[in-house]
Amino acid sequence: MAKPDFWKNSKNYYDLKSYWRNLFGCSVHKLQIDAGFTCPNRDGHVATGGCIYCDGRGSKLRQQGILPSVAEQIVSGKKYYKPQAAKYIAYFQTFTNTYAPIDKLREIYDEALAQEDVIGLSIGTRPDCLEPDVVELLSGYAKKYHIWVELGLQSVHDKTLQFINRGHNFQQFSDTVNRLTGHGLNICVHIIIGLPGESDKDVLTTAETLAAMPVNGIKIHSLLALEGTALGEMYKKGAITMITKEKYVSLTADVLEVLPPEMVIQRLTADGYRDIFLAPDWARNKLDVLNSINRELERRGSYQAKHYGITP
Ligand code: SF4
Repeated sequence: MAKPDFWKNSKNYYDLKSYWRNLFGCSVHKLQIDAGFTCPNRDGHVATGGCIYCDGRGSKLRQQGILPSVAEQIVSGKKYYKPQAAKYIAYFQTFTNTYAPIDKLREIYDEALAQEDVIGLSIGTRPDCLEPDVVELLSGYAKKYHIWVELGLQSVHDKTLQFINRGHNFQQFSDTVNRLTGHGLNICVHIIIGLPGESDKDVLTTAETLAAMPVNGIKIHSLLALEGTALGEMYKKGAITMITKEKYVSLTADVLEVLPPEMVIQRLTADGYRDIFLAPDWARNKLDVLNSINRELERRGSYQAKHYGITP
């Protein structure tokens, strides 16, 4: 057993940076965009209140009452990167980025793809917000561009999805993955480790289920309690306990071991606005969390896809 050669990196998992460098032969960066979308799980279309951990604040730009055009956000985002050999993916991140009429979506995505050195899109959305016309639009882009659809799921267990008020179930997610498959689209799924009521086995079942599906990438987050959220209130009342760093690190390593070698690991830490951050305290230091996961994999002599019996 050895780690796969095609990763061409020094890590114990197939990270997004390495994947893009292997695919495009240059550095590729994501540029975060807030295109002014809302969410059907917050505005009453599916539910109100949103997922119990969702702060509902949107981007800093939106909070400040300024929302520049997509093109302007791309131009200012590029300033953080060295231009040499860099390509960009326009990352529609804030709220549900397919929640608008099809003509509006086309206009927004076209604007992003028309920008210099933008080679694709990454679109964050919900499994219940990808109507056939949207899938058709994205499939059309995939013929020419590098397209990711990022699906929030968090857990494959309906009892958990209900508890966290996701407003959809696993079957809806599975149906959507099937509809997205076979059109050249890349699917990335978000999961959370540390959800209330979930055992270690539940977390591993989520990972194993996704490993068996046509999923190309994953973002793994720890659960965060934020001020102003339903989960934050539960935390303050002592109704829930947050996962410890040791447990998160160990479970993340377990999850990585059961994921296939070609699945791209897009994230291993969570992000939350510092001014509303409640817990767990250790999750504030993302670098330390990443280093701890790497150390744990080293200690085990292990890596992503360990369970696949890869040979040199
Ligand atoms: S689907 Fe996303 S944006 Fe909508 S409520 Fe849940 S976390 Fe918030």
